[in-house]
Amino acid sequence: MNYSAKRINIKKLLTILAALFAIVVTVVAGSYVVVGELRKQLRQNLEDVANQNAVALYNRIHSNHLLLEGMSENMHGVTTETVEETLQSFAVFIDDYELKRFAFCFPDGTCYSTDGGVADLSFREFFKRGMEGKGTISGVLSDALEESHGLVNVMTIPIFDDNGNVEGVLGLTYNTQTFNDALQIDCFDGQGYSCAINEDGQIMVAMGSNILQLSKNIFSDVLGIDQRNQETISRLQKQMSENVSGGGQLFRSEGTYYYCTPVELMDGDVTWYMLTIIPADVFENRADPIQTSLYVMIAMVALFIIIGAALLIILSREQQMMMLRFAYEDHITKGDNYAKFCINMEKRKKRLGYLVAMDITNFGNINIAAGKNAGDALICDIWQMLVSGLQEDEFAAHVRDDIYIMFLLASDDDSLLERLKHISDRINRRAKQIQVKGIHARYGIYHMNESDELQDAYGKARMAREHAKIHKEQRYAFYDEIDHERIQQDEQLEERFEESLKAGDFEVWYQPKYSAASGEIVGSEALVRWRDKDGSMISPGRFIPLFEQNGMIAKLDEYMFRAVTRQQAKWKDEGRKIYPVSINLSRASLYYADVFERYQSILKESGIEPEYIQLEVTESAMEGKKDIRVLLEQFRNMGIQILMDDFGTGYSSLATLNMRCFDTIKLDKSLIDHIGDKNGETLLCYIIDMGHQLELHITAEGVENPKQLEFLKQNKCDDIQGFLFARPMPFDQFEKLLAE
Ligand code: C2E
Ligand code: MG
Ligand code: MG
Repeated sequence: MNYSAKRINIKKLLTILAALFAIVVTVVAGSYVVVGELRKQLRQNLEDVANQNAVALYNRIHSNHLLLEGMSENMHGVTTETVEETLQSFAVFIDDYELKRFAFCFPDGTCYSTDGGVADLSFREFFKRGMEGKGTISGVLSDALEESHGLVNVMTIPIFDDNGNVEGVLGLTYNTQTFNDALQIDCFDGQGYSCAINEDGQIMVAMGSNILQLSKNIFSDVLGIDQRNQETISRLQKQMSENVSGGGQLFRSEGTYYYCTPVELMDGDVTWYMLTIIPADVFENRADPIQTSLYVMIAMVALFIIIGAALLIILSREQQMMMLRFAYEDHITKGDNYAKFCINMEKRKKRLGYLVAMDITNFGNINIAAGKNAGDALICDIWQMLVSGLQEDEFAAHVRDDIYIMFLLASDDDSLLERLKHISDRINRRAKQIQVKGIHARYGIYHMNESDELQDAYGKARMAREHAKIHKEQRYAFYDEIDHERIQQDEQLEERFEESLKAGDFEVWYQPKYSAASGEIVGSEALVRWRDKDGSMISPGRFIPLFEQNGMIAKLDEYMFRAVTRQQAKWKDEGRKIYPVSINLSRASLYYADVFERYQSILKESGIEPEYIQLEVTESAMEGKKDIRVLLEQFRNMGIQILMDDFGTGYSSLATLNMRCFDTIKLDKSLIDHIGDKNGETLLCYIIDMGHQLELHITAEGVENPKQLEFLKQNKCDDIQGFLFARPMPFDQFEKLLAE
């Protein structure tokens, strides 16, 4: 039982673990998806920041470019004489635009500036480009118009004359630092950095990091530090040459993401590239809390699942225990039931031992006399008695009602019987306490062999129990002792019963009763006879005890009652004189449901007056049941006389005589047989006298000789029934006898 429960739990546990694993895998995979998504978003972010930087750079340079374009009008036709004055008119913009100066170069390269400087700048790239008719913005240069040669950037545009020829180059100069500072845009809260580079990779503007130094080459000086970046650099260069935007990953100490976008300046004459870079940290710093919260979530989900699973296991274990209890626990004793007994026996491979089928005689009396609770309490007490005596490898179970089964390992029959006797003694003591008569343990014992099947063995033990009367004292029987032929015949009789009842094979025979004084017929007793197939009679002594055991007798009694009332009615209808006929009622009939109502209606149906029907009840049938008295009173009130049959057998007691629910006592043949023996005769005289004093009618049964008749006559016995006068006879013979 525990083993299979364990197996179920392991199965469940594995399922839960698998589910847990699946959930963890799903959540981890989910977290990767989320992190991937985050990475994507961050790249998008990076792209956005790069684009913003590009726009800022463009705006800044474009506004200056517009300024230059605006000023170019004034430069037409300017000469060396007018150039300084014209330039001075622009000086007002210098501070507003955070510039260093404006300058104009004549085609020969001579350059005049707003701060009065004059120099030959024909060697400068911006001059050359200007003269080619293109605007430009330079990288970081050393200032040629200043002695200290500070760092500057120069934006230039060509000035065309009316014929479209370049008549000079107008430029503005930034202090590099100022120019650079003006283009600072916060990049990922200072964690990232951007730079504007030209097509050669030279850093034109550096934003937000001291790694990036103006005029350094981003390809060789900055990114080229790690060889693994070569490929990325080539890709970047290719992308720049194609003028497209794009990003990727760079190798730096912690890993870096970049995005590069082209920025067209100076009406497309110049293209810079805005390169924005963030260290992987930025990404990790953003992804980490999400990932951490995801892991916390996983941990919580797992925890919930574990708690849930634990609860589930506890609950299902409880449920399982409940089911096991339901399946294997007896609801009255709370001990093992028969199913559990079978399992115990199955587990125990060795079968050698005694199988004992036990029941309690007259157990029903306890329920009737003391109530169902008392009955249940006794069942529990007996169970405790059985269990407390069990030794290792022995089992017992309460099967149902008053039935128990035991598997005992006694060394021999005697020691087994010794143990059973001990149980019986305890049960007898207990029965005495509750003052219910006839309570005894009965045992059917089967000595099991290794090869025996439990069901067969139990069947044999039960069969033995039904014959436990073999040993009257201790009420037990070994299966091997019982008369199997007889049992088989009994079974056949039981099988034929219903059919015979329908076929009318049960006949009513009548044994007349005579008045001791006058010798005239005063009545008769109806005695059942079973006609066998071969025409012979089966005597009631053969089948009545059998039918009393299995309860069939109640049906037979009712059948007899009906048959007798019908016969009486027939005789009455035929105008014959009728006499009271007594019908035997066995103990089982008295316990039959609605017995009074049933018999009453049968009688009514027949139309026979109640005084022509009598009922014979044995003293032992009265045992244990208090309301039998009430039942007998009902019959008597109706006018049916009650005869106490077989008085003198068993425990006849004066108390029974005094119960006042009988009209007649029938002295049993065993008492009559004592006539001739002094003590017996004294006893008889005493009983007859007592009976008369209690106003009871006395009938003597089994009177076989005149001497007995003489004694009974002398002692005022009222009626005589016996072979001396007549044996039981079929109805037609009895009819003739009455007619004589
Ligand atoms: P019982 O009710 O005590 O019936 C009297 C028995 O004594 C009858 O035996 C009868 O034949 C026998 N008997 C009468 N006079 C003498 C005699 O002088 N000498 C001897 N040796 N026997 C005598 P029977 O008919 O064999 O019935 C035996 C028992 O079977 C009855 O004892 C009664 O207890 C039971 N029985 C018979 N018919 C029925 C029935 O219809 N219902 C029930 N419940 N029991 C019945
Ligand atoms: Mg009788
Ligand atoms: Mg009798």
